[in-house]
Amino acid sequence: RDRNTVANSDRLERRIDELTELLKINREMSNIMDPQELYTVLADAICKKIKTSSLAVFIWHHNTKTFKLDFRHGQGEQHREYLYTDVGSFWDELLKNKLIPVFDVDGQPRQPGIIEKFHLYELKANWVIPLLMRNNVIGFLTLGNKETGEPFADHEVMFLQQIAEHASVCINSSYFFLKREKEKEELDRTLHNLSLLYSIGRAMTYISDLKSLLEYILNQAIQITGAEKGSIMLYDIEKNLLSIRVLAGLKDRAYQKRVNNNEIECKSFKPGEGIAGRVFQTGRPIVVDEARDNSMFIDPDSSFVRSIACIPMMVYSEVIGVINVTNKLDNSGFSDVDMELLKAVTDQAAVAINKAQLWEMAVTDSLTGLFVRRYFMAKFLEELHRAERYKKILSVVMVDLDHFKRVNDTLGHTAGDRALKIVAKFLENNLRDVDIIGRYGGEEFVILLPEADKDEAYLVSERLRKQLAELKVDDLPQMTVSLGIASYPEDGAAVELLINKADTAMYVGKQSGRNKVVIYNDDFELVKPEKTATDGSLYTAAS
Ligand code: GH3
Ligand code: MG
Ligand code: MG
Repeated sequence: RDRNTVANSDRLERRIDELTELLKINREMSNIMDPQELYTVLADAICKKIKTSSLAVFIWHHNTKTFKLDFRHGQGEQHREYLYTDVGSFWDELLKNKLIPVFDVDGQPRQPGIIEKFHLYELKANWVIPLLMRNNVIGFLTLGNKETGEPFADHEVMFLQQIAEHASVCINSSYFFLKREKEKEELDRTLHNLSLLYSIGRAMTYISDLKSLLEYILNQAIQITGAEKGSIMLYDIEKNLLSIRVLAGLKDRAYQKRVNNNEIECKSFKPGEGIAGRVFQTGRPIVVDEARDNSMFIDPDSSFVRSIACIPMMVYSEVIGVINVTNKLDNSGFSDVDMELLKAVTDQAAVAINKAQLWEMAVTDSLTGLFVRRYFMAKFLEELHRAERYKKILSVVMVDLDHFKRVNDTLGHTAGDRALKIVAKFLENNLRDVDIIGRYGGEEFVILLPEADKDEAYLVSERLRKQLAELKVDDLPQMTVSLGIASYPEDGAAVELLINKADTAMYVGKQSGRNKVVIYNDDFELVKPEKTATDGSLYTAAS
């Protein structure tokens, strides 16, 4: 009796110890959200209790229909994937049993297919313990024999079953947690992208000139995709060509600046030619990871190109150009997320660019690219108001080519057009950015010089006159201009009046031999207008 009592109380004590131990492990596991950490705690607890060195965890991944080896005791992280296909009876065994022997009593494999499939020899697995959640298989543990070679005692089997049950709950919730975290990250990213797109869209509506707009859009496209460089190509309907309008991110900054300022032209593409031409023609983006291996790739400037993403800009289902981004900075290719963002930016960009193009078409003269008269007058009025408000001065200069009819008469109208273009470019290149230049009439230009008085305007005009008189352009004859100056406030406070007076002064220059700069003064006598009123010539020289 005594012996029985002692044995009973021993068993009871051990049972209490075991339950305390289980409770401790359960509590520890419940607080872990990272699966790998969870497996480590689980493996340590089991191996300490059972004294075996081999333990592995396989997890069932429902969407891929695979078991993945998620953990191997003592091996750190090691993932391997096993396709679960023709092991139907194994699935049933997992559902029905608590502890499945891999070998039978004679040491013969019970399920050779399973052993091979999951590399159980290599894992030194003798036992499989199912991990179940509400009667669903979420995975299984594999376990080696005890190091002593003894069979498992009843209480050890019970321990394994109980710990496996609790581990299943913890593993399940840790995966659920991971999934939620991933969803949250995705949501965060979407939100970030949306706000990015919103701010890009807003910024676009504030930029009205085409060049600044293109530069802004390109830089945004490069930034959001993590690219090294890029370009925007616009379609020129008259030339039927796709040409580079802005570059960004190039190492050769000087070259980039010259292209962006329209001083040099890069290679243009015909629709269908190269990647850009193909994207333009089909209206579908192209992503290439290794540009040099791609037969469509045409290298326009022998620069180093790895990956390319080229995306069309569409307005009312018409392609107006393409955006190219090149070389991911992290050396990867352009991802689906990159393309999605790029597409969203491009859709907004296309509308903004189209608007800016239409605007430019309305306010600039197609031959010279200078402001048309109407728009120049509006800008002039704006500047005049500003000058009045801030008590500033300004000058206006009328410029008319001398004997321009002769150019047309001797060389033809086309040469005359070319000459006008050259003079317009010359004026643009030799004036400040704040100066406003307009094409006033056929071969008449008008320049507004903010904050310039008569003396300053004279210096500028004289410089222009001299430089142009020395400019030699291939087959064109030497050109000269006559310039007339009027200033606010001395000569008046109205746009028309100031222009008329500058025109009068210019006309006085014509009368006195051309290739002259004349400053308006009130001693000029009013005579019968020789020209039509649109010319604004109401005055002529006194002598
Ligand atoms: P002046 O020194 O007195 O100004 O002599 P001019 O020959 O320049 O005379 P005027 O200013 O009266 O004539 C302007 C000429 O410029 C008339 C026209 O043939 C030419 N012209 C005007 N617009 C254009 C144009 O867009 N293209 C070309 N090729 N010629 C133009
Ligand atoms: Mg003329
Ligand atoms: Mg004229």
